[in-house]
Amino acid sequence: MNDWDIVGHEWAVELLSRDLAGGRLRHAYLFAGPPGIGKRTLALKFAQVINCLSPSPLPPVPAGEAAGVRACGECRPCTLIAKGSHPDVPIVHSGVPSSTTSSRRPSTATRNSPGEGRSIKIDQVRDLERQVSLAPYEATYRVPILLRFHEATTGAQNALLKTLEEPPPQVVILLTADSPDLLLPTIVSRCDVLNLRPTSIAKAKEALAQRRGVAGERAELLAHLSGGRLGWAVRMSEDEERLAQRNERLDKLLGLIAAPRRARMAYAEALAKRPREEVYELLDLWLTWWRDVLLASSHAGAPFANADRIEIIRGLADRIDPERARAAIEAIRKTGEAIDRNANLRLALEVLALDLPALK
Ligand SMILES: [Zn+2]
Repeated sequence: MNDWDIVGHEWAVELLSRDLAGGRLRHAYLFAGPPGIGKRTLALKFAQVINCLSPSPLPPVPAGEAAGVRACGECRPCTLIAKGSHPDVPIVHSGVPSSTTSSRRPSTATRNSPGEGRSIKIDQVRDLERQVSLAPYEATYRVPILLRFHEATTGAQNALLKTLEEPPPQVVILLTADSPDLLLPTIVSRCDVLNLRPTSIAKAKEALAQRRGVAGERAELLAHLSGGRLGWAVRMSEDEERLAQRNERLDKLLGLIAAPRRARMAYAEALAKRPREEVYELLDLWLTWWRDVLLASSHAGAPFANADRIEIIRGLADRIDPERARAAIEAIRKTGEAIDRNANLRLALEVLALDLPALK
């Protein structure tokens, strides 16, 4: 644990708190890394530290460097930000319009429900632009947080680009994404990019046991499977069935890669009868899988989301070039967008089933 009460990411905490203390805040930060690594947690904590009413200094640092600060966690801004309801820290994510004045949703930091769509849309970014062009309501800085921005439509990404090119004063934009590779390069180049790495297995195990009360053996297993992605391990620890289900789904996906067209179509047809939320979950998992294959085939060196299956991923990457892995990611994203628009579910899934890379 470090000075921001976050497990791991010490270097990022240090960098961010020194930027703030030294008056060097950037206009935009991108927190990148596989799902469950702690991007959202770190972004929220940073927003707290920026707007805390009684921050305290961190231990002294080498001469010439500004000392970092930590948030109190108890003042009004800290409390509201933690709940996702601070008017100057709007949280924008898939399908849920974020408004500083709307009280429809006290916390916008939750997953949208089926039917609302799941990618950040152009209108959401335009709304946000209007908000950030005004002075903050009560805080020093407006700190909009845009989550899972890799799922944003291209239109939404382009809209944000305009704001990033001419950032209003007193605005710090925080983005999270599974990988900078999944965003427009022009977006990435205008952000300070923090590529988050998994924590050590030992630290993840310790945090699971001490902070979450997960029993020894299970904490060990989850820490290993997570590859040090604590958020992922915590989610899995909360629901015994989730892990089994995830394993089953990955096995099925692997089967499909080698399966003939007929079997793929049959799977798509069966899947179309499942609840939408389940389909979205499956698409998310598939995204992490092809992203891993892309990382392995382009030797990117970034951490894998499915760390327990590294050997299989590397084996696939030897046979599937980066372009095909990228095309698979694009196909899955397009399918998600089509489902958002209430396209025929069965048709969309059948198209996807045929689009996924095949191995003979
Ligand atoms: Zn505070």
